[in-house]
Amino acid sequence: MSPMNPTAVDLLQSVFGYPTFRGQQQAVVDHLAEGGDALVLMPTGGGKSLCYQIPALLRQGTGIVVSPLIALMQDQVDALREAGVAAAYLNSSLGAEEQREVERQLLAGELNLLYVAPERLLTPRFLGQLERTEVALFAIDEAHCVSQWGHDFRPEYRELAVLHQRFPQVPRIALTATADPRTRAEIVERLSLQDARQFVSSFDRPNIGYRVGLRHNAKRQLGEFLQGHQGESGIVYCLSRRKVDDTASWLAEMGVEALPYHAGLDAATRAANQKRFLREDGVMMVATVAFGMGIDKPDVRFVAHLDLPRSIEGYYQETGRAGRDGLPAEAWMIYGLSDVVTMSQMIAQSESADERKRVERQKLESLLAYAETTGCRRQRLLGAFGETHPGACGHCDNCLAPPKTWDATVPAQKALSAVYRTGQRFGSGHVIDVLRGEETERVLSLDHHRLSTFGIGADLDDKQWRSVFRQLLAAGLLEADADGYGTLRLTAGSRAVLSGGQAVRLREDARPERASRRRREGRSSSGERTGGSLGIEAYEQTLWDALRAVRAQLARQHGVPPYVVFHDATLLAMLRALPANEEELATISGVGEAKLARYGRDFLAVINAAP
Ligand code: ADP
Ligand code: ZN
Repeated sequence: MSPMNPTAVDLLQSVFGYPTFRGQQQAVVDHLAEGGDALVLMPTGGGKSLCYQIPALLRQGTGIVVSPLIALMQDQVDALREAGVAAAYLNSSLGAEEQREVERQLLAGELNLLYVAPERLLTPRFLGQLERTEVALFAIDEAHCVSQWGHDFRPEYRELAVLHQRFPQVPRIALTATADPRTRAEIVERLSLQDARQFVSSFDRPNIGYRVGLRHNAKRQLGEFLQGHQGESGIVYCLSRRKVDDTASWLAEMGVEALPYHAGLDAATRAANQKRFLREDGVMMVATVAFGMGIDKPDVRFVAHLDLPRSIEGYYQETGRAGRDGLPAEAWMIYGLSDVVTMSQMIAQSESADERKRVERQKLESLLAYAETTGCRRQRLLGAFGETHPGACGHCDNCLAPPKTWDATVPAQKALSAVYRTGQRFGSGHVIDVLRGEETERVLSLDHHRLSTFGIGADLDDKQWRSVFRQLLAAGLLEADADGYGTLRLTAGSRAVLSGGQAVRLREDARPERASRRRREGRSSSGERTGGSLGIEAYEQTLWDALRAVRAQLARQHGVPPYVVFHDATLLAMLRALPANEEELATISGVGEAKLARYGRDFLAVINAAP
């Protein structure tokens, strides 16, 4: 087994079965093991957990991990136990008897890692117990929960600064996947991490492909998209509960394993659906944003948005739930003009203070700019978080098929002047009627058929005009008012366009499902690939299914999700390397000593039985 005084790399290999550290992991581990404080910003799937798990094993005492989501502690602890680590959790889901047993283990120094909810950690009783035991380190996961600007604000997180006061000699590590500098500064201040070393990773997720398109028939578009992801796990986000229910039942009728999740469902249904999503292969979750914080299922192959999210951070966090295992994954979104109006209204009508509304409007604007860009999406996305990327990523829709643009200066001028002439009191529907010269009842009753702008836009059809208005909104050349009717108004930027001082280029609206169809045809015409993301070749399919079946069976026996037994990445490596014995199996990434002993024989039997 492991040497007497194992190094960090020894533990990485023997316990977790990984050959090498990724990115900044080693630097963080060394810094913490030597007693330093750290603030770690790493994208979802970057490998944050090892940054505190390995130092906790290297140092004397128990590593205390603060995590806001009690529902997920159990899975994390199960995964550690599978790897042979003495781990436990303390939260309100445990009975009194079980709690006492965990406390006994803590005080007896039997635990390597203990996960606790913040409210539990902060109780005088628990803090007192910590003073009577040896603490290896404090890890504060999802540290952005201290930020009042984010969706995940947790007031108890602000009190965690007490750890620094009561245990000044114990190293602390705060971790988050939220990249924005404002949140980072808030974490430092609120958790007294002024002296902590900051480890900031690139937020790029190279294995995720990005696609954004216009919504014209959401169900048909989603249906076509899902054809490329049959039998895979994924999340479909909708804005409203009703749309979640509607979409989930429609998918279920189509024979797709889809479950709903939103705050309007009772707690038992939510828990049951989440459990099935985590524990079964190939289940799809249709959800509002209520779903997902801390979901660390590694094999989510796609995240689809049927509506515009609220902010670029929200979008990035939600799409980041795809492909944590590093295998190919897809972020796909469709949206329409109405979303822009709805989101602007939601922000304006919220109870928030003006300062906060201003921040939210900025976040929505940068999301719109991302959605409408004709350049590389990855470059835009990372740019929104202050990171520069050279562009031409080759893995977003715009890089794969550069969108056509057209000179829309004249239509933009017509649109803006029609908004102005009608008194900046109407939504796009009526303004488009005026532009197109439609003599609707409303137009006639308002005498708008007498305006100089009446009928000046008959050369474009309704759909083209909606595209123009949507893009003008996205570019900040128009703004939607907050009155609940989507009233359009000119902005400071409108003047330059109206006076002819600024040209406007707009994209021709591409239909996102065309790109996907091309992609699929490309694959099937090459003859070998099936529909999935992982590129399993037809001749490999039987063994792949057999590996997944034995994994599912072992997972059920051990009462853990399949990915806790082995990740897809590990299964794929087995499929490609075809290890013949335990020695060869041990070299596969993700196969540590404990898992080799526990599962090695079962997987070798399947591989050796393959023709
Ligand atoms: P995060 O918390 O940053 O989202 P995790 O800690 O859950 O990420 O890690 C993401 C995935 O990457 C996990 O499945 C983990 O086992 C895997 N992983 C982490 N570090 C390594 C590594 N050095 N080599 C291989 N896989 C790794
Ligand atoms: Zn790109």
